[in-house]
Amino acid sequence: MRKPIIIANWKMNFLRDQADQYVAKLIKKLKNDRQIEVAIASQDLFLPDLIRIADETPVSIVAQNAHWENFGPFTGETSPKALANIGVDYVMLGHFERRELFNETNSTVNLKVRTALNNGMNVIVDVEELEQVAPVLEGVLEEQMQRIMIGFEPTFAIGTGMSASTKGAEDVAAQIRKTIKKLYGINVADATRILYGGSVNRDNLKDLINQVDIDGVLVGKAALDFQTFWELVQIV
Ligand code: PEP
Repeated sequence: MRKPIIIANWKMNFLRDQADQYVAKLIKKLKNDRQIEVAIASQDLFLPDLIRIADETPVSIVAQNAHWENFGPFTGETSPKALANIGVDYVMLGHFERRELFNETNSTVNLKVRTALNNGMNVIVDVEELEQVAPVLEGVLEEQMQRIMIGFEPTFAIGTGMSASTKGAEDVAAQIRKTIKKLYGINVADATRILYGGSVNRDNLKDLINQVDIDGVLVGKAALDFQTFWELVQIV
């Protein structure tokens, strides 16, 4: 079965104490609930702290980006090998803001996905449309697919307050699963978690998460307030 997951994408927000306290509060409230997976995507600076705080808890820690090379002359970039080395649970790649503001393309996202997987990492690869799925997965081996989740985040819905309709989101998620089936077969398609992201809030989450092909959600704006995020966690 595909375990439901809710991911808070903090983007470039918070200071260190706020980040630490948020995760500590989350762990306390979750206790040992392992029915769902709750994850926090944080800027790099806070990752070592958060990994330590969340160790042996149901909270997973996610990096928001990584380079496609392990080492080298790439000033200001983050090494996927270093992220694996400090023990992040997932790296998120190909987010719309990375594509829109930092010129990432299907081909750079694909390189990043492959390097992250080769480092043994788990990957959340984001797409804004169905057509991006095959290119970002190019060269990914069948046995590596168990470490991949697909985040479907339509451009019009990210940070706008305008979520996709439940039916629209489910239709695309089902198409994504069909594409995975074509590429890797039914077993991989059945096992791969597909997430929806884009203006998820307390009014639309229940319907979204109840869809057959939507296994989790990515939450941006609504995750910046701890109480609101906690309400969403309880809905999942
Ligand atoms: C995101 O950018 O990953 C996201 C889901 O943002 P928001 O919820 O603010 O649309």
